[in-house]
Amino acid sequence: STIPTIRLNDGNAMPQFGFGVWRVSNEEAASAVAEAIKAGYRSIDTAAIYGNEEGVGQAIRSAGVARDELFITTKVWNDRHGYDETLRAFDESLARLKLDTVDLYLIHWPVAGSEAYRDTWRALIRLKQDGRAKSIGVSNFMVPHLQRLIDETGVTPSVNQIELHPRFQQKELRAFHKANGVATEAWSPLGQGTILADETLVAIGRKHGKTPAQVILRWHLDNGLIVIPKSVTPSRMRENLDVFDFTLDADDMRAIEGLDSASGRVGPDPAVFA
Ligand code: NAD
Repeated sequence: STIPTIRLNDGNAMPQFGFGVWRVSNEEAASAVAEAIKAGYRSIDTAAIYGNEEGVGQAIRSAGVARDELFITTKVWNDRHGYDETLRAFDESLARLKLDTVDLYLIHWPVAGSEAYRDTWRALIRLKQDGRAKSIGVSNFMVPHLQRLIDETGVTPSVNQIELHPRFQQKELRAFHKANGVATEAWSPLGQGTILADETLVAIGRKHGKTPAQVILRWHLDNGLIVIPKSVTPSRMRENLDVFDFTLDADDMRAIEGLDSASGRVGPDPAVFA
């Protein structure tokens, strides 16, 4: 396949383009993930809270693709923070997926008002040492959270999965990631579909013979970001993946940079979300 990989700070390679399954039921996940793998996706992003790890696991087993060619991410939810609790939550996720290992295990949110994420991180370090999570990282962490993990454990998360799309570009956090060797993974890369009618994106798409969704995903790739768009519609799965035959020029990149907005979030703010 043509999907490039990103070298993580622990030496492992992660596909730069993957498939997200938030708000997909167990049943739907089994067919959607099977369909996605058929379309060429090799990286799947789920989470305990999505309630579809069984369906994802089922699709993986029936896909006819070797396990080591797939990259599976799941996440520990907010009510399972703490060292022992996280180890238990991880076991439960593996049991639902029916896997021996995951490729990436993430702390889903730092959880505002709690400092338990530090003990949770120690559990993830243990899981990596045991080889059960090949790589470990976080999601929705802000600079102070990341700095604290680095200072207290000396282990820098390999990935921070954050809301990131043309209307919310996260420049400050990306600069911190770059300086500290954290790969940036973009969730809701399409702004959950809310930015697809944007005139700038439509015009750029017209110029390249591409859809606004394809322009946005190409923008992520050209910025070195890992991206995990979601669609349960096979034609859109293929459309989203069909972004490896064009590049954006400097004018396009500048125009998209102009869409950034401080109030552009479509999801919760980690500073207050618990
Ligand atoms: P997204 O930005 O990927 O948008 C998905 C929606 O956009 C679809 O439901 C569909 O309505 C529309 N869409 C997709 N492709 C399209 C196309 N080609 N043409 C027209 N419309 C299209 O939103 P998302 O699902 O929120 O984010 C992607 C993934 O990121 C999730 O599935 C999940 O895996 C992950 N995520 C993680 C967190 C987190 O806290 N870590 C939060 C949100 C999402």
